[in-house]
Amino acid sequence: MIRVRQIKIPILNDNEKYLKNEISKKVKTNSFEVVKILHKSIDARNKENILYVYDLVIDVNEKNIKYNDNILKYEDINNKFAITGKNKLNSSINIIGLGPAGLFCGYVLTKLGYKVNIFERGKCVEERKIDVENFWNNNKLNINSNVVFGEGGAGTFSDGKLNTNIKGNDDYINKVLSIFVENGANKEIIYMNKPHLGTDALFEIVKNMRNKIKENGGNIYYNSVLTNIYFENNKLTKFEINNKDIYNADFLILAIGHSAKDTFKMLYDNNIKMTSKPFAVGVRIMHDQKLINENQYGKFSKYLPNAEYKLTYSSKNKKGVYSFCMCPGGYVVNSSSEEGYLNINGMSYSLRNSGVANSAIIVSVNEKDYGMKPLDGIKFQEDLERKAYNAGKGFIPVQTYKDFKNNQITKTSLNELKIKGKYNYANLNDIFPKYICDDLKEAIDYFNNKIKGFNHEDVVLAAVESRTSCPVKFLRDENMQSNISGLFVIGEGSGYAGGITTSAIEGLKMAKYITDNYKN
Ligand SMILES: Cc1cc2nc3c(=O)[nH]c(=O)nc-3n(C[C@H](O)[C@H](O)[C@H](O)COP(=O)(O)OP(=O)(O)OC[C@H]3O[C@@H](n4cnc5c(N)ncnc54)[C@H](O)[C@@H]3O)c2cc1C
Repeated sequence: MIRVRQIKIPILNDNEKYLKNEISKKVKTNSFEVVKILHKSIDARNKENILYVYDLVIDVNEKNIKYNDNILKYEDINNKFAITGKNKLNSSINIIGLGPAGLFCGYVLTKLGYKVNIFERGKCVEERKIDVENFWNNNKLNINSNVVFGEGGAGTFSDGKLNTNIKGNDDYINKVLSIFVENGANKEIIYMNKPHLGTDALFEIVKNMRNKIKENGGNIYYNSVLTNIYFENNKLTKFEINNKDIYNADFLILAIGHSAKDTFKMLYDNNIKMTSKPFAVGVRIMHDQKLINENQYGKFSKYLPNAEYKLTYSSKNKKGVYSFCMCPGGYVVNSSSEEGYLNINGMSYSLRNSGVANSAIIVSVNEKDYGMKPLDGIKFQEDLERKAYNAGKGFIPVQTYKDFKNNQITKTSLNELKIKGKYNYANLNDIFPKYICDDLKEAIDYFNNKIKGFNHEDVVLAAVESRTSCPVKFLRDENMQSNISGLFVIGEGSGYAGGITTSAIEGLKMAKYITDNYKN
């Protein structure tokens, strides 16, 4: 079998016959079988001739094949987990948090027969969905069952974008995508350039994975908050759930995500070593999806799925300003998790058909903005979220771009905004320090050079996007173990990962560490 890369197909000729023809031109033979597509992406650099670019595996007689950069030998990636560990575990494996990191770790380990307990502060995804909709429709917040807390983690009510920027982890990326497919995801995610699932698909996938964990003997404890840990001579001995239940353990995996501020504070007070970590804050901007499609794909936009964009800018204040978590055909969502604080994010359903494109436009912040102490970043985040809550009088503060520039509250009624959660007209300049407002305005005007109409005066902004990545980073060794032996920190909450796939990969790497060192 060989790998054939860079097969370019005009999008209107995207059919098997044309594809085979292009492959045979490259490998100079007609007798071959297409085994699988490794990668398929859209090349829209030339708007007059937009192309699909394929990377595939074919079965062919290799005797006359001339290898080059685009014709390569192919070896199937073995992403099987084998138990090679010899040591005996004294207790079950305990995982805190059922987001992608905890879920994938628990899924692989229970499948291999390890005893696993998972403690999740939120509820099962079915009950969580009711709480989230009750919050969006009636503004009734459940601080442990919401858009960031609950079975499936922060990624469940999301756009479900699965792309990741980490390099040299193809086997792990493949494993994550194949587990998603194993549990109901569309097979295309394995090879599409920017795979995405959408909230409706994620909901079913999380349920299927959870059921398999239980079928394989895993225990899942919902409404179970890790409230304390105990250790002697730097070795974990016990942990506490819900301020009362004590569990003896010498192995605890924290997969708590980027929003578990109470838990970060508890760990900090227990001298678990951490530092503050740069992140970014800003607004979400909403555009007619058609405008983005025509800008990105021109006359071919009607033949292609809703378009995405990625924009970056360096402000006069020497700050990075960039688009983040762009949701084509999606919704802005109220993703708050504490009373009196408000933050937003973005989501979409698998069809991405709301008609509105939204994305965060965020400004990088670091110690210079909020101080050197480990929890200073969290305080900065809290300050912005409190101001957003007050500006919107408890609802999502929104404003047109014209009024943001003119520092005044929008008076014209804005109908049918694609927002999940109640919103109110407010002046977003009241939420951020002036230099951040200036950076945002500079960048949005600059982005109009890339996408015409991006800074149109009627474009609507919402705030505050503050949970863009984890504001703390734990000290940990190459096995993801903290300064306490037996206490591991993985996923987005560790400060080393961001996004669904990257966090799930941390879960797989944690499972691999266990299979390499311990028997089941
Ligand atoms: C609305 C939204 C949209 C997003 N869209 C995307 C996207 O399209 N693509 C993408 O790649 N990423 C997206 N993200 C980011 C992505 O969801 C996270 O990076 C990812 O979920 C991190 O996985 P994790 O398992 O490390 O943590 P999380 O998913 O945050 O899960 C942590 C879990 O731990 C639980 N927990 C926390 N503290 C405790 C405690 N003390 N005791 C017990 N349980 C606890 C929480 O309830 C939660 O279920 C989005 C995030 C949000 C909020």
